[in-house]
Amino acid sequence: MTESPMCSYCLRPRVGAMRLFASPLAAICEDCARNAVAAFESDPTPSDLPGPATPWERLDNEALLARIPEVAKASREVQEHLGRWVAAARERHISWARIGEALDMTRQSAWERFRG
Ligand SMILES: [Zn+2]
Repeated sequence: MTESPMCSYCLRPRVGAMRLFASPLAAICEDCARNAVAAFESDPTPSDLPGPATPWERLDNEALLARIPEVAKASREVQEHLGRWVAAARERHISWARIGEALDMTRQSAWERFRG
C-alpha cells in the first residue's frame, strides 16, 4: 500500500487514528472488518456474503467526484501490483503465451503491456 491507503470496501481514506488491515492488494478498515465478522457470525450458510453496498449511494455529487481520483489511484496501484506478479512469472521463465492466457489476452498483448 502507499502512504495514503483507503479501505478497499467502503473507500474511506485513512483519517486520523483510523487503522487499516492492509496487504499489497487491499485494505479493510476496522468498521468494515467488524461488519464482515458480524455478517459471517449471523449467517451460517456456506455461501459467500455480499459486501457493503455501493458506497457512492450515500455521497452527494461533490463527494462522489472527490472520491474518483482516489479510486483511480487505487486502480493504478493494482495495475502496478499486477506488473510485479507478471514480472515474478517471467522470472520463473513462464511464457508470455501462458501469462496472456491467464490474463485472457493474447501473448502479443501481454508482452506489449508488461515487457518493460
Ligand atoms: Zn471500510
